[in-house]
Amino acid sequence: MKSDAPRWSCDICRVRRAVFYRRFSGHRMCSRCLWEALERGVKRSLRGSNLFRPGVKVLVYASALDPVAGLALSSILSRVEPRYGGVAAIAIPPYIRVQGGSWVKGLEVVEAPMESVRYNPLGRLSGGRLWAPALLRVERGIASLLAQDLGYDVALLPVTRTLISMIGLEALVSARLQYMWDLETAAAGGGAPVALGFRSIESEAVSAFSAIHRLDASSSIEPEYRYKDVYKSLVTDDRPELEFSSASTISLLSRTKSRAGCRCRSCGAPVNCELEYCEDCSKIWL
Ligand SMILES: [Zn+2]
Ligand SMILES: [Zn+2]
Repeated sequence: MKSDAPRWSCDICRVRRAVFYRRFSGHRMCSRCLWEALERGVKRSLRGSNLFRPGVKVLVYASALDPVAGLALSSILSRVEPRYGGVAAIAIPPYIRVQGGSWVKGLEVVEAPMESVRYNPLGRLSGGRLWAPALLRVERGIASLLAQDLGYDVALLPVTRTLISMIGLEALVSARLQYMWDLETAAAGGGAPVALGFRSIESEAVSAFSAIHRLDASSSIEPEYRYKDVYKSLVTDDRPELEFSSASTISLLSRTKSRAGCRCRSCGAPVNCELEYCEDCSKIWL
């Protein structure tokens, strides 16, 4: 396609200077068009969950799976939410350290009160590595209960479609399909419903956004991937994302393991009825 736009310009607006090449779509993008693409992506991620409605109170839980992505998600939501008349806040658990204080203006930051009676799991988690599917599950439970206790309608985890693919692959390769449940669209945990706020956006775009806006955070708990080499062998420069992160595939796979009946009191995952908590949550809750 012939174009009069200068070679360095953004492929979307054709005016501003491109700062990021989005392999996923093949576009060079300026920072504003990237922001708008992420905003649309977040809305798309939540639309399916039926949680994004006027006046909704949203709590982003900064996840050890990708600490910086939590800052990015709350930055983006803080612009989207006022138009819906909603409120967005971010909960920073004690294992996450945010470097640089002025990363978002006007956003409420909640220091997650993990030392309280209900939230006492972190002593057992801190400073370690946790298999990524188990980490997502545990954080999902904490986020759900925390959001409910603090009076929020929904908890969001900053989990991208790339992470969904990676965690889904871990679950598939290790034949532990029960972890597919965590990747499904919003489901209630023991408290508020939990949704994956970046489910239709790839990690690369979120990382670019974070770098452009100088967001910086780290976690003392790190996710462990046992089959990262399998994932890497499946993606290429031409095809940087796996397609099986699609909601219908995940839904199908997770249903093979869903047992009818009882749910974990923390994360909400299906459990045998004689158990209060799932295998992972039972390790951190008293
Ligand atoms: Zn642009
Ligand atoms: Zn659980």
